Formats: sequence, C-alpha cells, structure tokens
Amino acid sequence: MANIIKTEGFVLKTMLFKESSLIASIFTKKFGKIKVLAKGVRRPKSKFCGALELFNLDEIIFYKRELKDLYTLSDAVVIDDFEEVRAYPKKVNAAMVLCEFFEKTLPLEEIDSHAYTLLLNFLKELQDIDVAATKPLTFYYLLKTLSGAGVRPHFENCVRCHGPIKYDNKNVDFSIGAGGVVCDSHFDDTVVFLSNKTVNTLRRIYKDEDTEMCKDSISEIETFIPDYLYYHLNNLVLNSLKHLSDYSDKK
Ligand SMILES: [Zn+2]
Repeated sequence: MANIIKTEGFVLKTMLFKESSLIASIFTKKFGKIKVLAKGVRRPKSKFCGALELFNLDEIIFYKRELKDLYTLSDAVVIDDFEEVRAYPKKVNAAMVLCEFFEKTLPLEEIDSHAYTLLLNFLKELQDIDVAATKPLTFYYLLKTLSGAGVRPHFENCVRCHGPIKYDNKNVDFSIGAGGVVCDSHFDDTVVFLSNKTVNTLRRIYKDEDTEMCKDSISEIETFIPDYLYYHLNNLVLNSLKHLSDYSDKK
C-alpha cells in the first residue's frame, strides 16, 4: 500500500538521473532524510520548476511505500528559497557546508528535530547577517551540529583522565584523536595547540552562552575542524568547507 505523504523539508543535494530526472536528498521534518525521484524535472515545463534548488525549504508530497529507499516525488512547492542568502556566493557556499554535513552524516529515515532546527535557524540567521560575518556563523553552527552527531569536543578537564588542564601558558593542548583538551600526561601525536581565548570561546559556544569569535579564534577553529570531522565522523570531508575562504564579502 502506498501512502501519500505531505511534509516539509530542505533540499540537501540533487543528482541527475537519466536525461530528464533528478534524485534529491531531502531532510524532512517528519521522516528525517529521504531520497526522492523527481521525474521530468529538467523538462522546460516541469511542475517542480525551481523547487529543487539546494537548501530550499519546500512542502513536498511523495508516495511512501514500505521497504523502499527511493520514493517518487509527486509535488514540491517552495516555502522559503532564502533569497537573501542566494544574493551572495559566500553565503550560498556557507549554506552548502551545513547541507553537505547533514547529507553525509544523517542516516536515512531517522527523525532528527535537533538537526532540523539547527539548519532552519542557520539559514534564517544567514539571511540577516552582514556577509562579512558568514564564516564565524558557519563555524558556530558546524560546531553545534557535532553535539547532535554525538561527537562534541570537550573543553573542561582532560578528556582522558578528567584531571585539571594547565592554563598558565598561552596554549592549551587539544587532542583531535581524544576529542578534547588533554593534560601533559595525555599528550598524543594528534595534539594541536589552541589559545586560551579560543578554548574559552568554544566552551561558551557549547554552553549556549553569548560569544564573539575573534579573527584568531576563527582561524584556529578553521584549522582543526577538518581533521576533527575526518577523525570522528568516518573520514568525513566537507568539500564546501574548503571553499569558504575563496569568496569575497561582496555580492
Ligand atoms: Zn589527562
């Protein structure tokens, strides 16, 4: 039996399929990430016209059958295309960082309201901010997604022995492998040095406290995040993250 389902979701990724169709990965509110086949979408008069652009929030209708990992998309209507994000290539790239993260890490058909809300809030904020604030906002949200993915880094005591961390010098040892700050006895070969300031910023982020990321902290975070994702999330590489610095802050 096929059920006709109507729900909301974000377009995370699309792939060409045969000469006129697309397979889209959509992060829905009610079912988590699903894959749908949009037939004829690349024909000039397709009813899906414009609806399957990346990071659109759409209302979609699809036929859900049991034991199927690809559903047929029956209709898609744009709820929000985040026009103000699309006006800047840098913001578009930022939106793709989170889409790529969720596309690559979310399992199929598992509801994740935490991730869904993060993506929605991120796109809303991205619309409103000054384009120069794109990078810190993207890292803020990317760091936040790590909690939901079960790989939040630790910044209180040594992640190995829970012993105190020395703060008398300028840098704190952060072990990518261990997933947190470490004491002298737990120093390992994946350690990178983070400034006290950056560690405090990261702590505040995970405590949901207001924080501003200074330029130096952004660049320290930017340096360890790719290795951290790779190490803790099955060799995850975010291609869009590599390009975040390539775009200027102009339209
Ligand atoms: Zn230790």
